[in-house]
Amino acid sequence: MSDCLFCKIAVGDIPSNKVYEDDEVLAFRDIAPKAPTHILIIPKKHIAALAEVTEEDACLMGKIQLLAKKLAEQEGIAESGYRLLTNSGPDSGQEVAHLHYHLIGGEKLGDIC
Ligand code: AMP
Repeated sequence: MSDCLFCKIAVGDIPSNKVYEDDEVLAFRDIAPKAPTHILIIPKKHIAALAEVTEEDACLMGKIQLLAKKLAEQEGIAESGYRLLTNSGPDSGQEVAHLHYHLIGGEKLGDIC
């Protein structure tokens, strides 16, 4: 989608602090981190929110979960603990209408995101 911020990041039109990339998935550091580790994991294809995911996306969704686990290990927060969360739709406070998972950790977490 041409007017989607995260689609522009996915194709490199807007720079990001990447921590992982392959042909389907991108992970990059949140521009306004809520904790020492705050990474966003997105599918490169445009999906507006979790509410829009279909059966066809099952492998992609599994891939994102496994990537979150690996990145938590890479960040050294696997044992101390972390959150993986997504906002879907207006009542959730979702600001960017492109599916993304927040991987957050590195300190004791309160109410964030
Ligand atoms: P949400 O409220 O779940 O839609 O989260 C959107 C997230 O995107 C927020 O945590 C923002 O700080 C983050 N964000 C917005 N623009 C950028 C950007 N250009 N690069 C990295 N993170 C961004």
